[in-house]
Amino acid sequence: MATSLYIHIPFCTRKCNYCSFNSYSGRETLQERYVDALCVEMARLRPGRDTGRLETVFLGGGTPTLLSHGQLSKLFRSLVFHFQLADDVELSIESNPGTVDIEKLHRLKELGVNRLSFGVQSFNDGELKGLGRVHSAKEAQFAVEIARRAGFTNISLDLMYGLPGQTPASWRDSLETAVALGVNHLSLYQLTVEEKTPLERMLAEGTRVLPDEELFAEMDSITEDISVQAGFEQYEISNYAREGSCCRHNIVYWENGEYYGAGAGAVSFLENRRSRNENDPLSYCNLIENSKTVIMESETLTRDASFRETVIMGLRMHRGVSVASLVKRYGIDLERYYGESLTRMINEDLLVLKDHILQLTKRGRVFANLVMSELV
Ligand code: SF4
Repeated sequence: MATSLYIHIPFCTRKCNYCSFNSYSGRETLQERYVDALCVEMARLRPGRDTGRLETVFLGGGTPTLLSHGQLSKLFRSLVFHFQLADDVELSIESNPGTVDIEKLHRLKELGVNRLSFGVQSFNDGELKGLGRVHSAKEAQFAVEIARRAGFTNISLDLMYGLPGQTPASWRDSLETAVALGVNHLSLYQLTVEEKTPLERMLAEGTRVLPDEELFAEMDSITEDISVQAGFEQYEISNYAREGSCCRHNIVYWENGEYYGAGAGAVSFLENRRSRNENDPLSYCNLIENSKTVIMESETLTRDASFRETVIMGLRMHRGVSVASLVKRYGIDLERYYGESLTRMINEDLLVLKDHILQLTKRGRVFANLVMSELV
């Protein structure tokens, strides 16, 4: 039974140079209609058979904090009308630091939001400009400070490394600034150059240059050193948290658990069936308004496919995957299933199987993509 809900808000002030997410700038006039459509979709998602309470709700994007207070209030009213929320529900919202002020933050708090995830990416103005971000480093720092003043204690920052022009020293500065802000969660991603983005074109034209492998490896080790020294635990390949501050919503994904998805391009995973909504926000609204389904594709996972997904997603987490829980969920014995390839990766110090728990080793985390591609 799903106890998590993702709501996608696909609007942004401006499209960042590296972004391939389902997000759009210049569509503000659609926001009101889109929120109305989301309310209708939440009513559709409300499952007669399912009386469970939501443990986690995540508003992602895009930039959910671009919605007006009236639009967010309408959305939250619909949320609590159609779903029951657990008393200790984790209610996260993604935010771009350039889109909040103290009043908006107070209002989010009043609506019940208890976790803020700021997409900061860097505390270096040159790097932010190169990424096409709409905020400066100072504005990002200020956003965290006013979030605290508004009463938020659960704050996460997204930062990226391996950026064009970035040096190990500037990455260290960004990380130290983040730590000094006293946040309790960090998502630290390596930049991925996505196809058909302006960044891909700029790199091809030579107007931007990525750090070489040596610099990149240095940034990797800075990432671990600073976050661990500051008291963060790396609980997932790209995520670090102070005690008790792991993102419960994302753990549902990494455990390959069930979840509802609402909004343009949102994915739901229910009863082993994965379905994806129409991507385009306008088409999504039109479909809802015409009482049509917004689900554009869906597939039912075979037992084997679901098992393999659970293994590779679970390995992303530091705590790894339990052999016993896989047997309980799928009736499949991990060692027998993967046989020699598993033994080889254990011998190559990529994986460790200890006390019936399979985990990536430190070396395995460096080559995680290769390990996953063998297990998938
Ligand atoms: S703010 Fe986030 S979702 Fe919006 S364009 Fe930038 S990276 Fe993409």
